[in-house]
Amino acid sequence: MFRSGWTVSEFRGIPIRVHPSLLFVLPIMAIAISGQQLTARFVGLGVPAGEILVPPMVYGIGLSVSLFGAILLHEIGHAATALRFGMPVRAITLMILGGMTEIDQDEATPKETFLVAAAGPAVNLVLGVLCILGARVLPGAWTDVMIFLVLFGGLNILIAVFNLIPSMPLDGGRMLKSVLSFRLDVSRAAQITGTIGRSLALIGGLYGLMYGEFMIVLLCVFLYFGAGADQINTSIQEALEGLEAQQAMTIQVVSIPPHSSIPSVARHMLIRDAQVALVRDVHTTYGVILAQRLNRSRAETAADLVEGEPLFAWADDPLPEVVRTMRWHDKPVIVKDRYNTPIGVVTHDDVIRAARLRILADRGLPDQVSSTESRKNEA
Ligand SMILES: [Zn+2]
Repeated sequence: MFRSGWTVSEFRGIPIRVHPSLLFVLPIMAIAISGQQLTARFVGLGVPAGEILVPPMVYGIGLSVSLFGAILLHEIGHAATALRFGMPVRAITLMILGGMTEIDQDEATPKETFLVAAAGPAVNLVLGVLCILGARVLPGAWTDVMIFLVLFGGLNILIAVFNLIPSMPLDGGRMLKSVLSFRLDVSRAAQITGTIGRSLALIGGLYGLMYGEFMIVLLCVFLYFGAGADQINTSIQEALEGLEAQQAMTIQVVSIPPHSSIPSVARHMLIRDAQVALVRDVHTTYGVILAQRLNRSRAETAADLVEGEPLFAWADDPLPEVVRTMRWHDKPVIVKDRYNTPIGVVTHDDVIRAARLRILADRGLPDQVSSTESRKNEA
Protein backbone atom coordinates (compact mmCIF):
# COMPACT_ATOMS: atom_id res chain seq x y z
CA MET A 1 0.00 0.00 0.00
CA PHE A 2 2.85 2.39 0.84
CA ARG A 3 5.36 1.00 -1.60
CA SER A 4 5.10 3.91 -3.99
CA GLY A 5 6.85 7.21 -3.38
CA TRP A 6 9.86 9.24 -4.42
CA THR A 7 13.37 8.10 -3.67
CA VAL A 8 15.00 11.12 -2.02
CA SER A 9 18.23 9.66 -0.68
CA GLU A 10 19.90 6.41 0.28
CA PHE A 11 21.57 4.79 3.28
CA ARG A 12 24.30 2.23 2.44
CA GLY A 13 22.59 1.37 -0.82
CA ILE A 14 19.07 1.25 0.70
CA PRO A 15 16.72 3.73 -1.00
CA ILE A 16 15.02 6.22 1.34
CA ARG A 17 11.57 7.04 -0.02
CA VAL A 18 9.02 9.69 0.79
CA HIS A 19 5.38 8.71 0.30
CA PRO A 20 3.10 11.50 -1.07
CA SER A 21 0.96 11.21 2.10
CA LEU A 22 3.83 12.81 4.03
CA LEU A 23 3.55 16.06 2.04
CA PHE A 24 -0.11 16.13 2.93
CA VAL A 25 0.42 15.59 6.65
CA LEU A 26 3.43 17.91 7.21
CA PRO A 27 1.63 21.27 6.76
CA ILE A 28 -1.31 20.03 8.87
CA MET A 29 1.07 19.08 11.68
CA ALA A 30 2.93 22.38 11.45
CA ILE A 31 -0.35 24.31 11.82
CA ALA A 32 -1.55 22.02 14.63
CA ILE A 33 1.71 22.38 16.61
CA SER A 34 1.93 26.16 16.19
CA GLY A 35 -1.74 26.54 17.15
CA GLN A 36 -1.29 24.93 20.56
CA GLN A 37 -0.62 28.19 22.41
CA LEU A 38 3.09 27.46 22.29
CA THR A 39 4.12 30.68 24.01
CA ALA A 40 1.90 29.92 27.01
CA ARG A 41 3.33 26.39 27.17
CA PHE A 42 6.90 27.68 27.12
CA VAL A 43 6.12 30.07 29.93
CA GLY A 44 4.67 27.05 31.77
CA LEU A 45 8.03 25.30 31.27
CA GLY A 46 9.71 28.17 33.11
CA VAL A 47 10.88 30.07 30.00
CA PRO A 48 10.33 33.85 30.37
CA ALA A 49 7.97 35.18 27.65
CA GLY A 50 10.57 37.75 26.54
CA GLU A 51 13.06 34.99 25.60
CA ILE A 52 10.82 33.50 22.90
CA LEU A 53 11.61 35.33 19.68
CA VAL A 54 10.80 32.76 17.01
CA PRO A 55 7.16 32.85 15.80
CA PRO A 56 5.03 29.76 16.67
CA MET A 57 4.68 28.83 12.98
CA VAL A 58 8.46 28.43 12.63
CA TYR A 59 8.39 26.11 15.65
CA GLY A 60 5.51 24.25 14.01
CA ILE A 61 7.36 23.73 10.75
CA GLY A 62 10.67 22.98 12.48
CA LEU A 63 9.15 20.44 14.85
CA SER A 64 7.08 18.63 12.26
CA VAL A 65 10.06 18.31 9.90
CA SER A 66 12.33 17.18 12.76
CA LEU A 67 9.67 14.67 13.89
CA PHE A 68 10.13 12.93 10.56
CA GLY A 69 13.90 13.37 10.94
CA ALA A 70 13.65 11.47 14.24
CA ILE A 71 11.50 8.79 12.58
CA LEU A 72 14.06 8.47 9.76
CA LEU A 73 16.88 7.98 12.30
CA HIS A 74 14.69 5.36 14.03
CA GLU A 75 14.26 3.47 10.74
CA ILE A 76 17.99 3.77 9.97
CA GLY A 77 18.60 2.14 13.38
CA HIS A 78 16.51 -0.86 12.26
CA ALA A 79 18.16 -0.96 8.81
CA ALA A 80 21.75 -0.69 10.08
CA THR A 81 21.22 -3.51 12.60
CA ALA A 82 19.56 -5.70 9.95
CA LEU A 83 22.51 -5.13 7.60
CA ARG A 84 24.91 -6.08 10.40
CA PHE A 85 23.21 -9.48 10.64
CA GLY A 86 23.31 -9.88 6.85
CA MET A 87 19.55 -9.45 6.32
CA PRO A 88 18.48 -7.92 3.00
CA VAL A 89 16.84 -4.49 3.40
CA ARG A 90 14.63 -3.36 0.54
CA ALA A 91 13.77 0.24 1.34
CA ILE A 92 13.00 2.81 4.04
CA THR A 93 9.74 4.72 3.47
CA LEU A 94 8.50 7.79 5.36
CA MET A 95 4.72 8.24 5.23
CA ILE A 96 1.65 9.55 7.01
CA LEU A 97 1.74 6.93 9.81
CA GLY A 98 5.48 7.25 10.44
CA GLY A 99 8.17 5.09 8.92
CA MET A 100 8.59 1.61 7.51
CA THR A 101 11.74 -0.41 6.84
CA GLU A 102 11.27 -3.46 4.66
CA ILE A 103 13.58 -6.19 5.97
CA ASP A 104 13.68 -9.85 4.97
CA GLN A 105 13.79 -11.45 8.44
CA ASP A 106 12.57 -14.92 7.56
CA GLU A 107 15.99 -16.47 8.15
CA ALA A 108 16.68 -14.45 11.32
CA THR A 109 17.00 -16.01 14.79
CA PRO A 110 14.69 -14.68 17.55
CA LYS A 111 17.71 -12.90 19.08
CA GLU A 112 18.48 -11.11 15.80
CA THR A 113 14.80 -10.15 15.34
CA PHE A 114 14.80 -8.77 18.89
CA LEU A 115 17.91 -6.65 18.30
CA VAL A 116 16.66 -5.31 14.94
CA ALA A 117 13.37 -4.26 16.61
CA ALA A 118 15.09 -2.76 19.67
CA ALA A 119 17.54 -0.69 17.58
CA GLY A 120 14.86 1.80 16.40
CA PRO A 121 13.56 2.92 19.82
CA ALA A 122 17.14 2.79 21.18
CA VAL A 123 18.22 5.45 18.66
CA ASN A 124 15.35 7.75 19.78
CA LEU A 125 16.00 7.17 23.49
CA VAL A 126 19.69 8.06 23.17
CA LEU A 127 18.94 11.07 20.94
CA GLY A 128 16.18 12.27 23.29
CA VAL A 129 18.32 12.05 26.43
CA LEU A 130 21.28 13.73 24.68
CA CYS A 131 19.11 16.65 23.44
CA ILE A 132 17.50 17.27 26.82
CA LEU A 133 20.80 17.00 28.71
CA GLY A 134 22.44 19.16 26.03
CA ALA A 135 19.88 21.92 26.56
CA ARG A 136 20.40 21.79 30.32
CA VAL A 137 24.19 22.07 30.20
CA LEU A 138 24.27 24.95 27.69
CA PRO A 139 25.26 28.05 29.67
CA GLY A 140 23.20 31.20 30.01
CA ALA A 141 19.50 31.95 29.81
CA TRP A 142 16.94 30.08 27.69
CA THR A 143 17.40 30.55 23.98
CA ASP A 144 15.27 29.36 21.09
CA VAL A 145 17.90 26.72 20.29
CA MET A 146 17.64 25.34 23.83
CA ILE A 147 13.84 25.32 23.75
CA PHE A 148 13.95 23.56 20.42
CA LEU A 149 16.44 20.97 21.75
CA VAL A 150 14.17 20.20 24.70
CA LEU A 151 11.11 19.85 22.45
CA PHE A 152 12.99 17.68 19.93
CA GLY A 153 14.34 15.52 22.78
CA GLY A 154 10.81 15.14 24.13
CA LEU A 155 9.54 14.10 20.70
CA ASN A 156 12.23 11.41 20.46
CA ILE A 157 11.39 9.99 23.87
CA LEU A 158 7.71 9.98 22.91
CA ILE A 159 8.49 8.05 19.69
CA ALA A 160 10.60 5.54 21.65
CA VAL A 161 7.97 4.97 24.35
CA PHE A 162 5.15 4.62 21.80
CA ASN A 163 7.11 2.10 19.74
CA LEU A 164 7.96 0.06 22.83
CA ILE A 165 4.26 -0.72 23.52
CA PRO A 166 4.26 -4.54 23.40
CA SER A 167 1.76 -4.86 20.56
CA MET A 168 2.22 -5.83 16.90
CA PRO A 169 3.08 -4.22 14.52
CA LEU A 170 5.05 -1.94 16.86
CA ASP A 171 8.68 -2.68 17.77
CA GLY A 172 7.66 -3.60 21.33
CA GLY A 173 5.35 -6.28 19.91
CA ARG A 174 8.16 -7.69 17.75
CA MET A 175 10.49 -7.71 20.76
CA LEU A 176 7.91 -9.51 22.93
CA LYS A 177 7.18 -12.05 20.19
CA SER A 178 10.87 -12.81 19.65
CA VAL A 179 11.51 -13.19 23.39
CA LEU A 180 8.56 -15.62 23.60
CA SER A 181 9.96 -17.49 20.56
CA PHE A 182 13.07 -18.44 22.59
CA ARG A 183 10.88 -20.94 24.45
CA LEU A 184 7.68 -21.38 22.43
CA ASP A 185 6.88 -22.18 18.81
CA VAL A 186 6.12 -19.23 16.53
CA SER A 187 2.33 -19.66 16.43
CA ARG A 188 2.05 -19.79 20.23
CA ALA A 189 4.32 -16.73 20.54
CA ALA A 190 2.17 -14.90 17.97
CA GLN A 191 -1.00 -15.91 19.80
CA ILE A 192 0.21 -14.61 23.18
CA THR A 193 1.56 -11.38 21.63
CA GLY A 194 -1.76 -10.92 19.80
CA THR A 195 -3.79 -11.38 22.99
CA ILE A 196 -1.60 -8.94 24.94
CA GLY A 197 -1.73 -6.41 22.06
CA ARG A 198 -5.50 -6.56 21.72
CA SER A 199 -6.05 -6.36 25.49
CA LEU A 200 -3.82 -3.28 25.71
CA ALA A 201 -5.66 -1.71 22.77
CA LEU A 202 -9.02 -2.37 24.45
CA ILE A 203 -7.88 -0.89 27.78
CA GLY A 204 -6.35 2.13 25.99
CA GLY A 205 -9.45 2.57 23.84
CA LEU A 206 -11.74 2.53 26.90
CA TYR A 207 -9.48 5.06 28.64
CA GLY A 208 -9.60 7.28 25.54
CA LEU A 209 -13.39 7.08 25.38
CA MET A 210 -13.80 7.85 29.09
CA TYR A 211 -11.55 10.91 28.94
CA GLY A 212 -12.59 12.09 25.45
CA GLU A 213 -9.08 11.57 24.00
CA PHE A 214 -10.07 10.59 20.49
CA MET A 215 -6.51 10.40 19.15
CA ILE A 216 -5.87 7.62 21.70
CA VAL A 217 -9.08 5.85 20.61
CA LEU A 218 -7.98 6.03 16.96
CA LEU A 219 -4.51 4.74 17.83
CA CYS A 220 -5.99 1.85 19.82
CA VAL A 221 -8.25 0.86 16.90
CA PHE A 222 -5.11 0.77 14.71
CA LEU A 223 -3.27 -1.33 17.34
CA TYR A 224 -6.22 -3.72 17.81
CA PHE A 225 -6.39 -4.57 14.11
CA GLY A 226 -2.59 -4.62 13.77
CA ALA A 227 -2.34 -7.24 16.54
CA GLY A 228 -5.00 -9.38 14.85
CA ALA A 229 -3.41 -9.06 11.40
CA ASP A 230 -0.09 -10.40 12.66
CA GLN A 231 -1.76 -13.47 14.14
CA ILE A 232 -3.55 -14.14 10.84
CA ASN A 233 -0.26 -13.74 8.94
CA THR A 234 1.46 -16.22 11.21
CA SER A 235 -1.31 -18.79 10.79
CA ILE A 236 -1.20 -18.33 6.99
CA GLN A 237 2.56 -18.91 6.99
CA GLU A 238 2.14 -22.04 9.09
CA ALA A 239 -0.61 -23.37 6.82
CA LEU A 240 1.67 -23.07 3.78
CA GLU A 241 4.37 -25.33 5.26
CA GLY A 242 4.81 -28.50 3.22
CA LEU A 243 2.85 -27.25 0.19
CA GLU A 244 4.37 -26.84 -3.27
CA ALA A 245 3.98 -23.98 -5.76
CA GLN A 246 1.75 -26.07 -8.03
CA GLN A 247 -0.75 -26.64 -5.20
CA ALA A 248 -1.53 -22.93 -4.96
CA MET A 249 -1.16 -21.76 -8.56
CA THR A 250 -3.96 -20.60 -10.83
CA ILE A 251 -4.07 -22.46 -14.14
CA GLN A 252 -6.85 -20.25 -15.51
CA VAL A 253 -4.29 -18.10 -17.33
CA VAL A 254 -4.39 -16.63 -20.85
CA SER A 255 -1.27 -16.04 -22.93
CA ILE A 256 -1.08 -12.62 -24.55
CA PRO A 257 1.52 -11.33 -27.04
CA PRO A 258 3.33 -8.21 -25.74
CA HIS A 259 1.97 -5.89 -28.44
CA SER A 260 -1.74 -6.69 -27.64
CA SER A 261 -3.87 -3.65 -26.87
CA ILE A 262 -5.49 -3.37 -23.42
CA PRO A 263 -9.07 -3.94 -24.79
CA SER A 264 -7.77 -7.08 -26.51
CA VAL A 265 -6.22 -8.34 -23.22
CA ALA A 266 -9.53 -7.65 -21.46
CA ARG A 267 -11.46 -9.54 -24.17
CA HIS A 268 -9.20 -12.59 -23.89
CA MET A 269 -9.52 -12.63 -20.11
CA LEU A 270 -13.29 -12.32 -20.34
CA ILE A 271 -13.68 -15.13 -22.91
CA ARG A 272 -11.44 -17.52 -20.96
CA ASP A 273 -12.78 -16.40 -17.56
CA ALA A 274 -9.20 -15.72 -16.45
CA GLN A 275 -8.00 -13.38 -13.70
CA VAL A 276 -4.41 -13.55 -14.91
CA ALA A 277 -2.70 -12.99 -18.28
CA LEU A 278 0.83 -14.10 -19.16
CA VAL A 279 2.59 -11.70 -21.51
CA ARG A 280 4.76 -13.88 -23.78
CA ASP A 281 5.78 -14.71 -27.30
CA VAL A 282 7.37 -17.86 -28.73
CA HIS A 283 10.75 -17.28 -27.10
CA THR A 284 10.24 -15.16 -24.02
CA THR A 285 7.90 -14.70 -21.06
CA TYR A 286 7.79 -11.00 -20.14
CA GLY A 287 5.55 -10.98 -17.09
CA VAL A 288 2.08 -11.23 -15.57
CA ILE A 289 -0.94 -8.92 -15.75
CA LEU A 290 -3.69 -9.19 -13.14
CA ALA A 291 -7.28 -8.38 -14.19
CA GLN A 292 -7.73 -5.89 -11.33
CA ARG A 293 -4.73 -3.84 -12.54
CA LEU A 294 -5.90 -3.54 -16.15
CA ASN A 295 -7.77 -0.26 -15.75
CA ARG A 296 -5.33 1.33 -13.32
CA SER A 297 -2.86 2.53 -15.83
CA ARG A 298 -2.52 4.62 -18.95
CA ALA A 299 -0.75 1.74 -20.67
CA GLU A 300 -1.51 1.11 -24.33
CA THR A 301 -0.12 -2.40 -24.81
CA ALA A 302 0.23 -5.47 -22.61
CA ALA A 303 4.02 -4.94 -22.53
CA ASP A 304 3.52 -1.50 -20.91
CA LEU A 305 1.78 -3.13 -17.94
CA VAL A 306 4.69 -5.44 -17.17
CA GLU A 307 7.02 -4.05 -14.50
CA GLY A 308 10.63 -5.25 -14.43
CA GLU A 309 11.83 -8.83 -14.75
CA PRO A 310 9.31 -11.66 -14.24
CA LEU A 311 9.63 -14.03 -11.23
CA PHE A 312 9.74 -17.79 -11.83
CA ALA A 313 9.42 -20.91 -9.68
CA TRP A 314 9.44 -24.63 -10.44
CA ALA A 315 6.19 -26.54 -9.92
CA ASP A 316 7.61 -28.50 -6.96
CA ASP A 317 9.33 -25.54 -5.25
CA PRO A 318 8.26 -25.17 -1.59
CA LEU A 319 5.34 -22.71 -1.43
CA PRO A 320 6.65 -20.74 1.61
CA GLU A 321 9.80 -19.86 -0.37
CA VAL A 322 7.74 -18.85 -3.41
CA VAL A 323 5.57 -16.62 -1.20
CA ARG A 324 8.65 -14.96 0.29
CA THR A 325 9.95 -14.10 -3.19
CA MET A 326 6.51 -12.88 -4.20
CA ARG A 327 6.11 -10.58 -1.19
CA TRP A 328 9.65 -9.24 -1.43
CA HIS A 329 9.24 -8.23 -5.08
CA ASP A 330 5.54 -7.44 -4.70
CA LYS A 331 4.45 -9.33 -7.82
CA PRO A 332 3.04 -12.74 -8.83
CA VAL A 333 5.29 -15.73 -9.55
CA ILE A 334 5.12 -17.71 -12.81
CA VAL A 335 5.27 -21.48 -12.24
CA LYS A 336 7.12 -23.62 -14.80
CA ASP A 337 7.22 -27.39 -15.36
CA ARG A 338 10.43 -29.32 -15.83
CA TYR A 339 10.39 -28.59 -19.58
CA ASN A 340 10.66 -24.89 -18.73
CA THR A 341 7.09 -24.19 -19.89
CA PRO A 342 4.87 -21.84 -17.83
CA ILE A 343 1.94 -23.85 -16.43
CA GLY A 344 0.39 -21.38 -13.99
CA VAL A 345 0.76 -18.30 -11.80
CA VAL A 346 0.75 -17.84 -8.03
CA THR A 347 -0.87 -14.55 -6.94
CA HIS A 348 -1.53 -13.12 -3.47
CA ASP A 349 -5.16 -14.30 -3.64
CA ASP A 350 -4.02 -17.83 -4.55
CA VAL A 351 -1.82 -17.95 -1.45
CA ILE A 352 -4.69 -16.90 0.82
CA ARG A 353 -7.00 -19.48 -0.81
CA ALA A 354 -4.40 -22.26 -0.44
CA ALA A 355 -3.84 -21.37 3.22
CA ARG A 356 -7.58 -21.36 3.96
CA LEU A 357 -8.08 -24.72 2.25
CA ARG A 358 -5.10 -26.18 4.12
CA ILE A 359 -6.44 -25.01 7.50
CA LEU A 360 -9.88 -26.49 6.70
CA ALA A 361 -8.35 -29.72 5.36
CA ASP A 362 -6.20 -30.20 8.47
CA ARG A 363 -9.27 -29.89 10.68
CA GLY A 364 -10.45 -33.23 9.31
CA LEU A 365 -7.19 -34.97 10.22
CA PRO A 366 -6.62 -36.89 13.44
CA ASP A 367 -4.90 -34.76 16.10
CA GLN A 368 -1.15 -34.28 16.45
CA VAL A 369 -0.62 -37.16 18.89
CA SER A 370 -2.17 -39.82 16.69
CA SER A 371 -0.31 -38.56 13.62
CA THR A 372 3.04 -38.82 15.45
CA GLU A 373 2.04 -42.29 16.60
CA SER A 374 1.25 -43.40 13.06
CA ARG A 375 4.64 -42.03 11.95
CA LYS A 376 6.30 -44.05 14.72
CA ASN A 377 4.43 -47.17 13.59
CA GLU A 378 5.61 -46.66 10.03
CA ALA A 379 9.20 -46.48 11.28
ZN1 LIG B 1 10.50 0.82 14.62
